[in-house]
Order: sequence, then C-alpha cells, then structure tokens
Amino acid sequence: MKAAVVNQFKEKLEIKDVPVPEIGPGEILVKIKACGVCHTDLHAAHGDWPVKPKLPLIPGHEGVGVVEAVGPGVTSLNVGDRVGIPWLHSACGECEYCLTGQETLCPHQLNTGYSVDGCYAEYCKAPASYVVKIPDNLGFEEAAPIFCAGVTTYKALKVCNAKPGDWVAIYGIGGLGHVAVQYAKAMGYNVVAVDLVDEKLELAKKLGADATLNGTKVDPAQEIQARFGGVQAAISVAVTKKAFTQAYHSLKRGGTLVVVGLPNDELPIPIFDTVLNGITVKGSIVGTRKDLQEALEFAAQGKVKVNIETQPLEKINDVFARMEKGQIHGRVVLTLE
Ligand code: NAD
Ligand code: ZN
Ligand code: ZN
Repeated sequence: MKAAVVNQFKEKLEIKDVPVPEIGPGEILVKIKACGVCHTDLHAAHGDWPVKPKLPLIPGHEGVGVVEAVGPGVTSLNVGDRVGIPWLHSACGECEYCLTGQETLCPHQLNTGYSVDGCYAEYCKAPASYVVKIPDNLGFEEAAPIFCAGVTTYKALKVCNAKPGDWVAIYGIGGLGHVAVQYAKAMGYNVVAVDLVDEKLELAKKLGADATLNGTKVDPAQEIQARFGGVQAAISVAVTKKAFTQAYHSLKRGGTLVVVGLPNDELPIPIFDTVLNGITVKGSIVGTRKDLQEALEFAAQGKVKVNIETQPLEKINDVFARMEKGQIHGRVVLTLE
C-alpha cells in the first residue's frame, strides 16, 4: 500500500510502498479515505517532544474510512462500517484511569501515528473497541478533523469551568482553534478569538466569534482585561509560549487556563496572582471515545463545520511547510485515491 513515512526527524516524508498491516484478534483493518493533518503530526515528524515517536513512522490520527476486514472476536463492527481512528489508539481498560472514565490518561495507552503507525496510508489497523463510528450524514472529509481537532477542543471547553454567557478566549485560530470557536458558540459562550494573522481572525468571525484580536497589533491580555474585565476561561491551542502567557493574563478572578497546544516549552506562572486570584491551570489531552461521539454529533447536526482544504497524500511535505509558516486556514485533509 501507499504511505507517507517519516524515516528521520526533520527530513521530508517519503511516499513509498509498504506492506498492508496484518490484523489479529479484536482488530480491524480500515481502508482510509481521508486523514486530517494535525500540528501534532508535524511535532512527530520533527521529534519535537520529550517522548519520541517510533521510527520509521506513518503519522496521522484523524484517519477515516471503511472497515475492510475484521479480526477474530470482533462483534461490534462489520465490513463496510464507516469509522475513524483517533489519537487514543488503545488503552488498557483496567487501570484506575480507564476505570474512572479518564482513559486518555491511561499509562499503557498507544497513540495512533506516534507509538504505532497511523493513517497517512491506504490502510490502517486499529483495535475495534477504540475506533468510533461516523454519523451517516457526515462525509469522510468533513468528519476526519473531528477525530482530533474537534474532540480535543470540545473536551477542553467541557472542562474549562465556564457557563453559558461567560466570555471565553481561544488563543490560536488554526486547525484546532477554528473548531474551538464553533464548539464554544454552540455551548453558549461569548468568544474572543486571538491569532497573529488577520485572515484567521476573519475566519473566526465568520464562524461566530464575538470579538477578535490580532496579537501582532495589540496586547491581547491587556485588551481582554480592558474590554471584558477578563475571561472566565482561556483555551490555548497555539504553538508558542507567548500565547500561553497571554492566555493566562487574560483570565478574570476565578478563571481557568486550559493548556492544549504543545510547544516543547515551559509556562511561567506568577505564584502570587495565581493564589490571590484563585486561578486554575489545567492540561487537557484529546478526549475519550464518549467525548468523540458527542463531538461528532455536533458536526452531524451542522453546529460545527470544519473549514477544510483537501490535498492528495503526495502533497504532505508542502502541507507541513505551509503549516510551519502558519499559512493554513482551517484544516488540510489528505485524500487517498
Ligand atoms: P495549527 O498550526 O493549525 O494552528 C496553530 C495556530 O496558532 C495558528 O493559527 C497560528 O497562527 C497560531 N498562533 C501562533 N502563535 C500565536 C500567538 N502568539 N498568539 C495567537 N495565536 C498564535 O495547529 P493545530 O493543528 O491547531 O495544533 C495546535 C497545537 O495543539 C499543536 O501544538 C498540537 O500538537 C496541539 N494539539 C494538542 C492536542 C491535545 O490533546 N492537547 C490535540 C491536538 C493538537
Ligand atoms: Zn491531533
Ligand atoms: Zn488504562
């Protein structure tokens, strides 16, 4: 099968022929139709993080397609079913986290397109119990980014401690941020979108943002304090430390910063202000299978619509180059055949 492969960190991906994965008990083989390009895939290809991915690696954790074969013992899915394979490739199902609805914290988890091969390929295998079905009325290309960008931002907003009518700031209007704006609106929040690029802010506005701020023109934290008295929650899905610092300083008393973007950096937090203002800083990593079903339902109902640009798999190196420069508006979805 055709696949895009990372052979060495920071080198171009190679489009090459590799064997179709063989499935075992409890597994399914998915014929991939489309796969979104997440900034995480770029971090993986660069070896950015303290925990490195396997090499060689087929990235991709927003892969969707059709079940081509089922292994022994699979009863929940049939050949022909439409499914997606998320970042949480599998978890142990038995640890304290798995048993308490926090499977994304499982220490024994595997990650699609990181610790195991992912979906920048014609086929990908997965455990049947960790894939999620795509609602009938959602096309493959529009469904793909919900499997990471969608579920991740939906979950971050779910845990951000804001209530309908509160102001929420979204820092970074990229693949994740532009869907975050839509989930936030659907959940009844007032949304201020922050980015460094005017076109991205225009997109945010089109998608329902109540206010937008360009971090190259104003200090977004100061502006948010002056105009709204601070926000109840700030979600940072940007890839630079500065955005996280500004997001922190955008909070009102009792506010919550949800840390989602993954620059390999540290976040300096003033202890005094954090204590006196009762600030919460919270990490949020993707979402559970249940969160994913809920996130897909928002898309199926038309409340969230990913701004997609499709490109053939072969274009992945160009797409990564544009992503590095911040030149993608919404999400690029790679198509197969
Ligand atoms: P992206 O490249 O599509 O978007 C990043 C956006 O941040 C761009 O629009 C860019 O212009 C903007 N930005 C950069 N600096 C900024 C600043 N100082 N202020 C405001 N905006 C700024 O990336 P993406 O696919 O949306 O992913 C974003 C990050 O989230 C990556 O680090 C990725 O690894 C991480 N991620 C985390 C999770 C999780 O579960 N926590 C899941 C998926 C992705
Ligand atoms: Zn992702
Ligand atoms: Zn577990």
